[in-house]
Amino acid sequence: MNLKPFLSFSERSIADLDAWQDQGGKIAGVYCIYAPNELIRAAGIVPVSLCGKKQAPIKDAEKELPASFCPLVKSSYGYAVTDTCPFFQFSDILIAETTCDGKKKMYELMGKLKPLHLMHLPHTQEPEAVLEYWLRALHRLEDFLFQCSGIKVSDQALHDQIVQQNEIRKALWDISVLAADRQSPLTASDMLAIQESKSFCVNPAGYLEQLITLKRELEEFLRQPGLAAPGGIRILLTGCPVGKGSDKVIQIAQELGARIVSMENCTGLKGMTLAVDETIDPYEAIARRYLKIPCSCMTPNPLRPESIREMADLFQADAVLDLTWTGCHTYNAESFTLQQFVEDQLELPFLHIETDYSESDQGQLKTRIEALVELSG
Ligand code: SF4
Ligand code: SF4
Repeated sequence: MNLKPFLSFSERSIADLDAWQDQGGKIAGVYCIYAPNELIRAAGIVPVSLCGKKQAPIKDAEKELPASFCPLVKSSYGYAVTDTCPFFQFSDILIAETTCDGKKKMYELMGKLKPLHLMHLPHTQEPEAVLEYWLRALHRLEDFLFQCSGIKVSDQALHDQIVQQNEIRKALWDISVLAADRQSPLTASDMLAIQESKSFCVNPAGYLEQLITLKRELEEFLRQPGLAAPGGIRILLTGCPVGKGSDKVIQIAQELGARIVSMENCTGLKGMTLAVDETIDPYEAIARRYLKIPCSCMTPNPLRPESIREMADLFQADAVLDLTWTGCHTYNAESFTLQQFVEDQLELPFLHIETDYSESDQGQLKTRIEALVELSG
């Protein structure tokens, strides 16, 4: 099984982005899975994720943002304000959404650095109440994209992007399910790299081929007789986004012999089963699909426990680990209700961890995750 193309995907995409820009191609920096990939690509623009996952730029962000903001916001802004992220440098435009308060206030500052379009996201998922409003937000984004690329989105181009992005989501989902097989050799760190790759893809057709090849190789591997099945409790990880650099909780769990078999967060599988309907008006289909994303910025957010129920069942989880970045009030607030749901309805052990990007609480985290492993074993 060749994981090499995925292990340093973002680093290698730099050359592709460079070539794309040299040919006159445009690049949009995005910070959230509410950014509608299909529409951005149909306007001839490549979206790349700019979410900060490292501690280093945080001190620079804190010169302008409150230290109490979550590390993801501070890291993202730190990279932007110091101009030290190659993906930020590549970005011709930024696409933002009104999700949490930290991001909204960060975007007000970021708009001074690059042309930024703010999508006004409704905070209820009731389509009857907000569909028209959200559709208008999509059309306003389309105007902004046109000003950047000069490419008018056609229904056909949008439909083609919808089909392709559905195929990519499906392939990533299938790989994630195979990777969670008891005999799979893939670790959570491998899956983090594979799932993260979707945010740095310049050529979606080539990327889809790579995913399909990996899926086929994994299926072939798992068909071999007599494979060992490494033990360890199976953990479903939920909560705030995690990436390479902000993965200390995953590393600690792995060192303790646990397997994170499913990551129900935005860097992982959140929304991965939500396909865009290919049979109805493409704008309405996109609007409906993105409204269903179970983010804690929505109130209420009933689809998150349902998504966790389905994943805990499918991935045969022995426990749920809820990770909140310090300063993320919405995920923090949901943890209480989620714990009740997981313990009472799913009858699984639950651990809530609140931490940041620093290394200072490694010992304490180890003790708490060790207790979860023992309780679930
Ligand atoms: S957690 Fe919510 S705000 Fe953050 S990336 Fe996901 S959808 Fe966007
Ligand atoms: S982790 Fe929470 S506070 Fe931080 S950007 Fe995401 S939703 Fe906002």
